[in-house]
Amino acid sequence: MPVNLHALSVQAPIEVFMTPRYRMLIGSELVPAVEGLWQSIINPSTEEIIAEVPQANAVDVDLAVQAAQKAFPAWSTLSPGERSHYLWQLAQGLEKYSDELIQLESTNAGKPIKLVSNGDVPFAIDNLKYFAGQARVIEGLGTGEVVGGYTSTIRREPIGVIGSIAPWNYPIMMAIWKIAPALAAGNTVVLKPAPQTPLTSLKIGEIAQEIGLPPGVLNIVTGGGPEVGEPLVIHPQARMISFTGSTATGKRIMGLAAHKMARVHLELGGKAPLIVLADADIEAAARGAVVGSYVNTGQDCTAVTRILVERPHYHHFLDRFTELSKEVRIGDISSESTDMGPLVSADQKERVAGFVDRAQAAGIKLHYQGTVPDGPGFYYPPTIFVEAPTDSEIMQEEVFGPVVVINPVDSVDEAIAVANDIRYGLAASVWTKNIHQAWKVAAALQFGTVWVNDHLPLCAEMPHGGFKESGFGKDLSRYAFEEYTIAKHVMFDLSGEAEKGWHFSVFGDPQ
Ligand code: NDP
Repeated sequence: MPVNLHALSVQAPIEVFMTPRYRMLIGSELVPAVEGLWQSIINPSTEEIIAEVPQANAVDVDLAVQAAQKAFPAWSTLSPGERSHYLWQLAQGLEKYSDELIQLESTNAGKPIKLVSNGDVPFAIDNLKYFAGQARVIEGLGTGEVVGGYTSTIRREPIGVIGSIAPWNYPIMMAIWKIAPALAAGNTVVLKPAPQTPLTSLKIGEIAQEIGLPPGVLNIVTGGGPEVGEPLVIHPQARMISFTGSTATGKRIMGLAAHKMARVHLELGGKAPLIVLADADIEAAARGAVVGSYVNTGQDCTAVTRILVERPHYHHFLDRFTELSKEVRIGDISSESTDMGPLVSADQKERVAGFVDRAQAAGIKLHYQGTVPDGPGFYYPPTIFVEAPTDSEIMQEEVFGPVVVINPVDSVDEAIAVANDIRYGLAASVWTKNIHQAWKVAAALQFGTVWVNDHLPLCAEMPHGGFKESGFGKDLSRYAFEEYTIAKHVMFDLSGEAEKGWHFSVFGDPQ
C-alpha cells in the first residue's frame, strides 16, 4: 500500500487529553502508525497511563525496512570517521536530554531513580561513545601473499538492514547495544522496542532526527511481537536479526530467520550461579549476592539466582544474606533511597508468583519472603528458597524476579557440576581468596562471563553474551562490532598470465 509519510508526520510529542503521544521514526519523519492505532503505556509503580505510542503493523514495518534499505548505500560508504562523528553527535544528544531520558526510563520501566541515573542512562551513553570510537578501528588478518602469485586481503563489510528486537528490562541500554555497533559497522537499523517500554527508544528517535542522522539510517517501530516483531524477522530485506529476550522467543526467531538464511544474534535467558567457596570473604559474598539478586528487581539475565555455598559456611552466609535482604528498601521509584522497584507488568508479577507457588507446592523450603508496600504497583518482595533439588523448576528455569535459591555443596567439584547443570550459560561468579581455585573454577564454568569476587559489572570494552541456550553473538566490545560485519576475501592475481600453473588440473596439460 503506498503511503505518504509527509501526510502522517507531526511534531513530537503532542498532547491529547493530557496524555503525551510519542511517535515512531521512519525515514526522516516522526510518524504515527499507518492505521492510526495507539497503545497506552503504564508506569509499573503506579499503574497509571503515562503515554501513548503508535501500535504499528506489518505495513509500518515494511515502510521502515524500505527506508533503511534506501539509506544503506550512502551510510555504508561513508568513511568510518564520518560515521563515528554521527554516533558521537547522537551520544551528545542523549547527554543533552539525559534528565528527560532518566525520568522516562524510570517511570516507564518502574526502575528506582538511583539505578537509572547512576547506571542505565550514563552507561548507555558511554556504550554509544565506545562504538563511535570502534567505528574507526577495523581489525583482522593482514593483507599479504598467502598463496604464491596472489595477494589476499579481507574486507569487513556491513551486512545491510538489521532488524533489532529489544526487551523491556533495560530498554535504553538494549536499544543502544543494538543500534550502536550496527551503525558503527555501516549497517542501517529498524529497531522494535518491547511494547511495555518504548519511551526512551522513541526519544532516541527524536534525538537522532534532531542531530541530523541521515534519514532511514535508524528507524524505530513500536508494537507487539506478532504484529511488528515477526513481520520484521521475516522481511526479505532484513538481512540480520538481533534479538534479546526469552530463549523460547529466540528459538522461534531463529527458525523464522532460517527460511531466508538470515544471520541471527541472540542474547537469551540466564540462570546465573554464584559460588561461595569455603575460604571466601562471607561479608563480601553476601553483599555481592544481594546486589546481584535484587538488581532491577531480579529482571536481569545475569542476576544471581542459584547460590551455592561450601557447607562449612552455609549457615553463616544464609544468615547474613537474609539479614541484608531484610534491609532492601522497596517502594517509591522517585525516591533516592529506594533500592528496589516493581516488576515491569502485571503479567510478569503473575509469572514470578507462579514460580514461587509451584516451588512451595513441590515442598521446597521458603526460608524468607519480605513484604511490599500497600497500594498500586506490580511490586514483588525478596524471596529466598533453600535446599532445592538441582532438577527442580526453581533451580532450572529463569524466574526474572527477586527470587533466589541458596544451597549447600560439599566440594568445589560439586559446585561446578551443579552450576553447569543448566541449559543456560550467560554469567556466573565465584568467591574465593585462593587464586588457584579462582582460575580453576572460572575455566570450568560454562558461562559467557565469569566474575571472581564480584557479580554484575560490565564495561563497553569487554564482550557480553551466552553459551548454550543463552544464545550466541556478543554484545559490547569489538566482538559486537564484528558481529555486524561480514568478512569478504578479495584475491588478486599478481602474474598477469592467461594460463596459470595450476590450470592443468582442470583443463589442459602441465606447462
Ligand atoms: P519475549 O522474549 O517473549 O519478548 C521479548 C521481545 O520480543 C518483546 O519485544 C516481544 O514482543 C518480542 N517478541 C515476542 N515474540 C516475538 C516473535 N515471535 N517475533 C519477534 N518478536 C517477538 O519475553 P517476554 O516479554 O514474554 O518475557 C518472558 C520471559 O522472558 C521473562 O520472564 C524472562 O524470563 C525472559 N526475558 C529475558 C530477557 C533477557 O534479557 N534475556 C529479557 C526479557 C525477557 P511482545 O511482548 O509483544 O511479544
